[in-house]
Amino acid sequence: MSDQKSLQTLLSHSDYTAPEGFSALSTSIHHASTVVFKNVAAMRSRSWANKSSYTYGLHGTPTTFTLEARLAEIEDAKYCLLAPSGLAAIAMVDFALLKSGDDVLLPDNVYNPNRDLGNWLGQDFGISARYYDPLIGAGIADLIQPNTRLIWTEAPGSVSMEVPDIPAICKAAHDKGVLVAIDNTWSAGLAFRAFEHGVDIVMQALTKYQSGGSDVLMGAVMTRNDEVHQKLTMAHMRLGFGVGADDTYLVLRGLSTMKLRFDAHDAAARAVASWLKTRPEITRILHPAFEDCPGHAVWKRDFTGAGGLFSVMFDARYTQQQIDHFVDSLQLFKIGFSWGGSNSLCVPYHIQNMRKNWTIPGHLVRFNIGLEDAQDLIADIERALAAL
Ligand SMILES: *Cc1c(COP(=O)(O)O)cnc(C)c1O
Repeated sequence: MSDQKSLQTLLSHSDYTAPEGFSALSTSIHHASTVVFKNVAAMRSRSWANKSSYTYGLHGTPTTFTLEARLAEIEDAKYCLLAPSGLAAIAMVDFALLKSGDDVLLPDNVYNPNRDLGNWLGQDFGISARYYDPLIGAGIADLIQPNTRLIWTEAPGSVSMEVPDIPAICKAAHDKGVLVAIDNTWSAGLAFRAFEHGVDIVMQALTKYQSGGSDVLMGAVMTRNDEVHQKLTMAHMRLGFGVGADDTYLVLRGLSTMKLRFDAHDAAARAVASWLKTRPEITRILHPAFEDCPGHAVWKRDFTGAGGLFSVMFDARYTQQQIDHFVDSLQLFKIGFSWGGSNSLCVPYHIQNMRKNWTIPGHLVRFNIGLEDAQDLIADIERALAAL
């Protein structure tokens, strides 16, 4: 073969190698499906199951390994695996740990797509998914059956914001050899140290605070348990859960400012919630840092912060149409799901249709407080309340 390649071949095979020694503060973005081995022996001895080498883009690149390691550091876990969304991370836990004949317990206020997944496992996979009162605490012991394998928790629960007693649930579960997983997205792993409180598996929707940009979907599952991690690794591989290099970079980029953003969301959310508490239209503040919120004492005991997400109850004298009109009248608050980004969001929920035993009267509205000035947000709400 001549040294002189044809132009066509040259397009795929370049002789150029960049000089070594480049160093920057950002993580390099490695795009790869194919990973190239040094020789056949290296290819034959590859192992996708441990992160000491590379085998295929789906099983990790320096970019994804770096994000996984950094998330494990933040949450104080031993292992971390990335998934293409928060919901995919939840599914990875279920498929890793549950099989036909098993039983899983979920809180009645669980993130709704997790509930839908639980129902699907029940209908089509021979797994029983049962729902418990999120304030059950140690009483969960009575619900644990010999075939119960996993208890999901969420702290606080989506939309209705009850704060569960995680240490009590973990103790009851571990007494019977059952694993506990938490959806720890609300606290971003900053305001609730889940492993210290006894949890076995932590799931994060990185879509929220870790990204902070409202422009990325990604999830993570973390554990300190070797055996659980092996099962998660198998599920991760078998389900083909890869994440894109650019998205991974965006999440890495968000991490250094995450705590500052989280604390700013927290302060502004408490300011807005405190103001809402003075309003006659609002009957209840469902924010864990407020006494009105079920589980507030547990929040005070176990949490160090709150972030930007909370709900309120509007007085039952209003019609749903009036509540919808209030939300439509907001200007700074946009109507949309998710949270953790710089823009404030507002969503009305039919909480009575979402929950088995909902007793608080009125209409639930959820606020995500972004990074705008709190006084501007309050003025926006005041204007919209006048339109009620
Ligand atoms: C957003 C969210 C998820 C799912 O994350 P996606 O990346 O949107 O799939 C799961 N749990 C909670 C509590 C969330 O807020």
